[in-house]
Amino acid sequence: MKRLISVCLIIMLLAFSGCAQNNAIDSEPYSKEFFAMDTYMTVTAYGKNGKAAVKAAKKKVKKLDSLLNAESKDSEIYSLNESGEAILSDDTASVLKSALDYFEFTGGAFNPAIHPIMRLWGFTTDNFNVPTEESIKKTLKLTKADEISLKENKVKFNLDGLEVDLGGIAKGYTSSQLIKIFKDSGVKSGLINLGGNVQTLGLKPDGSEWNVAINHPYLSGEYLGFLKTHDKAVITSGGYERNFVANSRVYHHIIDPSTGYPAESGLASVTIVAEDGTLADALSTSLFVMGEEKATQFWRDNRNGFDVILYTDDNEVIISEGLKDSFSTELQTEVIS
Ligand code: ADP
Ligand code: MG
Repeated sequence: MKRLISVCLIIMLLAFSGCAQNNAIDSEPYSKEFFAMDTYMTVTAYGKNGKAAVKAAKKKVKKLDSLLNAESKDSEIYSLNESGEAILSDDTASVLKSALDYFEFTGGAFNPAIHPIMRLWGFTTDNFNVPTEESIKKTLKLTKADEISLKENKVKFNLDGLEVDLGGIAKGYTSSQLIKIFKDSGVKSGLINLGGNVQTLGLKPDGSEWNVAINHPYLSGEYLGFLKTHDKAVITSGGYERNFVANSRVYHHIIDPSTGYPAESGLASVTIVAEDGTLADALSTSLFVMGEEKATQFWRDNRNGFDVILYTDDNEVIISEGLKDSFSTELQTEVIS
């Protein structure tokens, strides 16, 4: 079965035609759309180096996809999971290092050793099934991320059967790397959309902010709201992105590592807004697992690094105070501070 792609963020490129400001940069866009990392991607750069930057960006995405995809037999992660040890490329080592840091930082809500559980539920093959409680209990014993030792590029698993899955962080790492490529190429304005994981560079060519529309998780064609932003990653996780139905229940792909079951935390989606795409991706998955109360507390404890938009199963939007002037929605909203 082909993966259901739900592009959860639609980028509104509201070009103010004919009213370019004096300080506006060259507004000629160069854009490429392609399929990678199991999703549709659009990479756009403005200005004279845009074409070369977008080409380099596409190449980088393909490279990272071929390194990080745990299901592809040629990938570094696949062979690491087979053999339990490896000398990794700089990119893979860097993503794994971040993943292990977020495992610590989130108290295990983000768990890069979740792969055996993903496989048990069939999310790795699309042969979905609801496992027995016993098999979940048994498999959870393999998800010990603290049994991964990583020193520079050398990695070793200290537990038989342990396997890593970087799906919760790979796209955020990728978008942050693409922004780096843009910057190194002298691009001042650009937009990366990796299947709904968005990262913006600079302002729009007309000097105004990007307007990122955040899709409603359940109502097709409707939006949770709109965010005016620049130089930020805007990354969303939700159970609606990938799931299957069995026994009249929906089982989705974000697992609570403390139970081995899809997280049922009362949240329908979590959007993280941050400068760093890697952080935004790791935390969107983690805060979805944590649920409203813990996620709110986590934001309060670490408020300088990021902002949040939580959408609850009760149809309420909760935003952190840094977004109160930039996020607009028609839904009932609570601002946390
Ligand atoms: P998406 O990849 O759909 O944009 P996420 O960033 O939330 O959404 O990542 C979900 C993926 O992360 C899953 O498909 C799986 O590969 C992995 N994953 C699932 N649960 C966890 C978890 N608790 N911690 C880390 N990774 C997870
Ligand atoms: Mg994520």
